[in-house]
Amino acid sequence: MSTNLSKRMSSLRVSPTTALFAKVEEMKRKGEDIVSLNVGEPDFPTPEHIKEAGIKAIRDDFTKYTTGNGIAPLREAIIEKLRRDNGVTYGMDEVAVMVGAKQALFAALCAVAGEGDEVIIPTPCYVSYPDMVSLAGGTPVMVGRNDDFSLDLKAIEDACNEHTKAVIICTPDNPTGKVYGEEELRGLAEIAVRKDIFVISDEIYEKIIFEGSRHFSISSIEGMKDRTIVVNGFSKTYSMTGWRLGYVCGRRDVIANSIKVQSQTTTTPPSISQYAAVEALNGPQDCVAYMTAEFEKRRNYVQERLSKIPGVVSHEIQGAFYAFFDIRNFLGKEYEGYGVIEKDTELCEYLLEKHHVAAMPGSAYFAPGFLRVSFASSMEVLKMAFDRIEIGLNAHKC
Ligand code: PMP
Repeated sequence: MSTNLSKRMSSLRVSPTTALFAKVEEMKRKGEDIVSLNVGEPDFPTPEHIKEAGIKAIRDDFTKYTTGNGIAPLREAIIEKLRRDNGVTYGMDEVAVMVGAKQALFAALCAVAGEGDEVIIPTPCYVSYPDMVSLAGGTPVMVGRNDDFSLDLKAIEDACNEHTKAVIICTPDNPTGKVYGEEELRGLAEIAVRKDIFVISDEIYEKIIFEGSRHFSISSIEGMKDRTIVVNGFSKTYSMTGWRLGYVCGRRDVIANSIKVQSQTTTTPPSISQYAAVEALNGPQDCVAYMTAEFEKRRNYVQERLSKIPGVVSHEIQGAFYAFFDIRNFLGKEYEGYGVIEKDTELCEYLLEKHHVAAMPGSAYFAPGFLRVSFASSMEVLKMAFDRIEIGLNAHKC
């Protein structure tokens, strides 16, 4: 007998975003005036008609367990949405509703990759992918992206071996705001076919996309439907982070395995949220257009502010609601009343402690030397935050 804890857990990180969120909340509780640009959730309320559908579900007593893969009207609405948006037709057993896109990703990873299997993750990447692969029992294999954050297809191909089961992509991307183009995705699809691996395509930001960019799902390429595991959800498009609802679509056996994970852990996704989600997909969509237009105004403002800070290197933000910019010019320098800052993590601590603005360090996304700020906040908040960031970054001695 031993009260030692699980070995697998010792290598697992607490999600860095969750950890910083807790620290910022604690500082705010103590009365400090912190501007937070660290959180990845829309600041809009859930649209009224969706909230009403949730309230109606409670009144109608839809407050019990549902089928493990989600209620039929929701799976039907998801199938219709995927046919409409991606031109791909799924059967009712090729879709499963999950407790957020996060659980959908984890269940899909458990479905395809276990002990001895490898999953390729292009970096910078969403904080949770590598830890989810490890938790599923597999090995994450990190592969860099090109300087403009496009996929380095050669590096992906070179990383494939007989243990490789899948590659995970996110488009539009958290943290970089990159939207992968059709050509690039066709190139990835060719590799996936040649190497006989899955593509896990996280499309949770698909609707938050700005002028000049277009979302393209790799699942829509001929021959890719069964090889792609599409993950999506309601958190970002409909501002429903707290309703905890997402979904996974793919080959029947992959979905059956994903449902096993759900049935042995959370049993079913929340019933009330599922009824609200049916309304989200089948009801009016002007709320989505409104939120995306607001994000685009903020995107323009944030890009403009970044371009005016000498030394910051930034790229066009094509989708999602994050700016991911290179701050290596600000490292190895001494800051007024603080000392020398060597790392992005220290720069974030300095900005938080001295200038009361919270941003995420790039190293949380396996890209040291960058900062990520979310612009899912009002223009007033963004203005205040960028005033502070600018003062903070400029406060170094030459
Ligand atoms: N994928 C990405 C890329 C995300 O940014 C997030 C949320 N931060 C998720 C998945 C998880 O979303 P959900 O709230 O649906 O679990």
